Amino acid sequence: MATNRTFTMIKPDAFEAGNTGAILKMIENAGFKIMAMKATQLTPQLAGKFYEVHKERPFYADLCGYMSSGPIVAVILEKDNAVEDFRTLIGATNPANAADGTIRKIFAKSIEANAVHGSDSDENAALEGNFFFSQAERVS
Ligand code: UDP
Ligand code: MG
Repeated sequence: MATNRTFTMIKPDAFEAGNTGAILKMIENAGFKIMAMKATQLTPQLAGKFYEVHKERPFYADLCGYMSSGPIVAVILEKDNAVEDFRTLIGATNPANAADGTIRKIFAKSIEANAVHGSDSDENAALEGNFFFSQAERVS
């Protein structure tokens, strides 16, 4: 049974390119509501913690460097079937494989600098939202 929240980040490439507003507009147009949002910048250590599940992967060190290279925008989103519908909206990890009209197809620069994050499960959506936002910083 899907819950109604997911978590996203506008990644450094999309923030730097000035695409934050356009991406948020696509997200709202798809029916998601913003329940918490802030601009911040991760340290390499915090990026490493966020992506700890990937620590054995060959791309982990580069990913932590990239994700701490500039500002990001962290966002908690609400919609029916949020996790699955958001993964559909953003498209495949590698923009070369992302479907037409998806956020990554339109905005991603590479498999690493792929514009946005999207949680992969309800459990991770909650963990990731809590990583960035205290109870007082989000709509409860
Ligand atoms: N990534 C990468 N190289 C790869 C696979 C992933 O640089 O071969 C990066 C990319 O930024 C991706 C993130 O690591 O979004 C997390 O990977 P995951 O497999 O969880 O992809 P996602 O869930 O973001 O689609
Ligand atoms: Mg993932």
